[in-house]
Amino acid sequence: MNTAIGIELPEEIAAIQDGIEAFVRKEVLPRHEKHEALLHNPRKKYTEEGRYSPDVLQLIREIRMASSEAGYFNMSAPESIGGSEMGLLAYYAAWERVFHVCGGLNWLGVYSISHWAFGPSPVLTQITERAREEILTDMVAGKTSMCFGLSEPGAGSDATMLKTRAKRDGDGWRITGRKLWTSNSPQAQYCIVFAITDEEKANKRKGGISAFLVPMDSPGLEIESIVKMFGHIGGDEGALLFDDVKVEPWQLVGELDKGFAIAMLGVSLGRVYNSARAVGLARWGLDIAFDYIAQREVFGKTIAEYQGVTFPLAESATEIHAAHLMALNTCLLLDKGKPAIKELSMTKSYSVEKAVKTMDRVMQVHGAMGLTNEMGLNDAWETLRSINIADGTNEILRRTVVQRMLKGDMDL
Ligand SMILES: Cc1cc2nc3c(=O)[nH]c(=O)nc-3n(C[C@H](O)[C@H](O)[C@H](O)COP(=O)(O)OP(=O)(O)OC[C@H]3O[C@@H](n4cnc5c(N)ncnc54)[C@H](O)[C@@H]3O)c2cc1C
Repeated sequence: MNTAIGIELPEEIAAIQDGIEAFVRKEVLPRHEKHEALLHNPRKKYTEEGRYSPDVLQLIREIRMASSEAGYFNMSAPESIGGSEMGLLAYYAAWERVFHVCGGLNWLGVYSISHWAFGPSPVLTQITERAREEILTDMVAGKTSMCFGLSEPGAGSDATMLKTRAKRDGDGWRITGRKLWTSNSPQAQYCIVFAITDEEKANKRKGGISAFLVPMDSPGLEIESIVKMFGHIGGDEGALLFDDVKVEPWQLVGELDKGFAIAMLGVSLGRVYNSARAVGLARWGLDIAFDYIAQREVFGKTIAEYQGVTFPLAESATEIHAAHLMALNTCLLLDKGKPAIKELSMTKSYSVEKAVKTMDRVMQVHGAMGLTNEMGLNDAWETLRSINIADGTNEILRRTVVQRMLKGDMDL
């Protein structure tokens, strides 16, 4: 029970939080302990090309499948596609707990619940009946996964810059273009890809973008390279080439020319997820910082006695508490069917900015120890730093806040 929070979580959500923690302790942490050499040695974790090695992929699949079996994996996916439809407050609360427990080192925790871009989520309600028959059973069971191809080399924050085109071919289309930063693509079986289907509408910013479900082994689709970040020798983001990839009408996701709304739906779920990731990881960092400062002695006293050490941590604790409260409020609004566009933008940008700052402070109070691989603070910092960009940069989120306020949404 969190005694700092006055917003009472419904009983079933509190139970889900405890349940997912028990799941993580049973299925995720022991795998990390047993396969430490594989999961933390980059030479074993990645293939020469930079993809996760087959043994790592097997562990990821095992966790997804165990979570599906235990009833957590599809908790927030709609019932119509085989989920438990628990809503976003539950999604947030469960993810926050996963990251709080897993911290920076136990990175397989990311696969304990279906991530909106990698597996079942409200996005999949938009696929056709035939696509449901083809992909849902295995994806809900955690056996397969997917990825979300929106960004391109020349189109990130501004999706209207997309160069990928889907040209009519009989009653289907042929897709040509490049996608970049596509998370999970090196291990996915399917990609939801966004392409321009009506140039005129797209130029006027009035639709014209459509989404398609494409098997990753489709002729003409290849992963050109694995994107490497922060000095790593591998990664899970791919650069994709679509070269005249044939798609049939059953592969259209949602309505023709209205794919942008699907992209925004996905990205909004990502903002909830990343807000939870930020608060969970920051709380993990503060937990270990407070343990450390109470026992590390310098100049005859524990460093907990130096306000130069403790005040920055108090500031971070205040900010993370505020981020936590903001997120719970935003999820309550979203679960009531309110758009909460301003509130979600504020929540995600505030949470991740403050979490990056927190992790930096946690590293600082640990001295040199805070920079070692064995503490995992660098892993947490890198994750948090990257989500200042993924699913809407901090600047784009501020832009959204301002746009809403200029339209008269002045409630705070
Ligand atoms: C780890 C990671 C995973 C990702 N996974 C995926 C994925 O699975 N699928 C996918 O499609 N994409 C993915 N992305 C891409 C991500 O969505 C984009 O990086 C993001 O939208 C920003 O686009 P950009 O990198 O092209 O930056 P740009 O849009 O080029 O922006 C560059 C800079 O300019 C700023 N800027 C732009 N416009 C404005 C403005 N109007 N006012 C003020 N500042 C502005 C931005 O905030 C940024 O700081 C991922 C990114 C990362 C880092």
